Amino acid sequence: MAIEKYQNLLFEKIKTQISEWFDLNNSEVIRNEDVYSFLHSLKGTAGTIQLGGLFHLASKLMDQLELKAKEQWKKCELREFLFELVSLSYQYEHFKETDLKKAEPSDNELPVVQMVCEDVSMLILLKETLEENGWMVMTSSNPEKAVSLYYDLQPDCLVIDIDFTDIDGFQILESIQQHNHKQFVPKVILSAENTRHTRIRAYEIGADDFIGKPVDMEEFSVRIKRQLQRKQIFDQSVLIDELTKVYNRRFLFDILERYLKDLERTDSVFSIALLDLDYFKKINDTYGHLTGDKVLEDFADFLKKSLRGSDIVFRYGGEEFVILLPRTKSQEAIEVINRILEQFKAIEFDEQGRAFNVSFSAGVYMADNPAEGSQDILKMADQALYAAKEKGRSRVQGANVSDQSASNILHVSVIDDDAIIRTLLVRVLQTIDTEKVELNIKSFENGEKFFESGRLTEKGKHFLILDGVMPVMDGIEVLDKVKNSPQSRGVHVLMLTGRKSEYDIARALKLGADDYVTKPFSITELQARIQRLIKRMF
Ligand code: GH3
Ligand code: MG
Ligand code: MG
Repeated sequence: MAIEKYQNLLFEKIKTQISEWFDLNNSEVIRNEDVYSFLHSLKGTAGTIQLGGLFHLASKLMDQLELKAKEQWKKCELREFLFELVSLSYQYEHFKETDLKKAEPSDNELPVVQMVCEDVSMLILLKETLEENGWMVMTSSNPEKAVSLYYDLQPDCLVIDIDFTDIDGFQILESIQQHNHKQFVPKVILSAENTRHTRIRAYEIGADDFIGKPVDMEEFSVRIKRQLQRKQIFDQSVLIDELTKVYNRRFLFDILERYLKDLERTDSVFSIALLDLDYFKKINDTYGHLTGDKVLEDFADFLKKSLRGSDIVFRYGGEEFVILLPRTKSQEAIEVINRILEQFKAIEFDEQGRAFNVSFSAGVYMADNPAEGSQDILKMADQALYAAKEKGRSRVQGANVSDQSASNILHVSVIDDDAIIRTLLVRVLQTIDTEKVELNIKSFENGEKFFESGRLTEKGKHFLILDGVMPVMDGIEVLDKVKNSPQSRGVHVLMLTGRKSEYDIARALKLGADDYVTKPFSITELQARIQRLIKRMF
């Protein structure tokens, strides 16, 4: 169709211009005249070739341009100014105008489903089905990776397709179940072998549901929804953490509210300490997750034994604990936690003859202002905790001390040859609210440039958004190189893949991509997804 050809050419033109302005580092400023003539020509062409939305946007931008009456633009200003254009170009290019969905509000508390399945086409289909409900679905086709992802992610529901070729798929359920019997996460088994024997085995190991193949997608979706509801009800009704037998995070907030009311009424200050075990991932990696579990249990026991009767211990998340110290000023609280740290460091753990010690870092904050809410209080303690980590771990940091500003950095790299997508992603990332994490965002037009820049050697955690198909160095090659680099442990990779390239998805997952998103993607969904991931990574 002739008109489509012209439309494509126009998008090419936009891309080239965007790339010239924002990628090539030749000049920090862009002349207003150039912006004007670009928009002017866009407007003319778009109107002629039936791109109504683009025509109106170009007109609007030109009006604004006149109002602003600038001489020149800084790159970042112009990027902001043209964002709508970049975003519209992306949508035009990837969606037909008719199926442009209304942007849905991003919700941070969307449930997370983890799915393990060797058959990638099946995996893709199931993921798509579930994501239609707005849930986030994380996938793995490699059993070992699935287990460690399970610990990292703490999903709300786990779906395992046990039909693996080389291993008995039940093993995955078994190894997770060793931990899971203490933590309620609904597990659903899929299998083509829908026999009485297999079903009984699944339920015996601890499955909550069994779905035979072929899977009826509508029914699948409803059954997972039921499991997510059960999980939600469970989470809301329980006050004690199953693994460590201390109070859980939900109860913490109830108690904090109570203490804050007391503070308002009677002026009785209290302190909270947020404790995070140091290098806990390493313990899991070296000695296995069960030993990790044991360390958590022992740590909680140790805390209960070592504290005063009035102090209350909560499990805040994975390997993070909160201690509430009633009627305790910050200096005294810091002393208490320091004493506990010294004692805990001296404890020798033993795993089949291999001895090791564990330490923690802590942030302490005294609540003496009734105007602060429980979230504020925890945030202060959290900032102090990260300062303690930053200073080398195994120490206690007060939140009232002036040098608590050190923040946590996540290096986010976007590697994509498409200038529109790059610009779009950078902007999406910039608008993400990450609380305690500071994002250091950079984009690269290909893998070679990425490696040349030495980006991966920057200290801290890395998050890569990687295009699967690129010239110069293919996304898969980049992924392979990243995963074989010495820094690979702290790198989380999200692959962008074409909907059709099942082969690429399979390879990406095999090579260790942590997640994938198919193009074209919805911007709001991607934003919610990244935000959620970042929250879970820290
Ligand atoms: P840091 O010193 O910076 O705190 O390093 P870290 O390795 O402790 O950091 P991070 O917070 O990234 O890792 C925490 C890990 O704890 C991630 C997850 O795999 C693990 N984890 C979370 N919950 C559990 C659990 O219930 N059992 C076990 N065994 N591991 C868990
Ligand atoms: Mg942690
Ligand atoms: Mg830790």
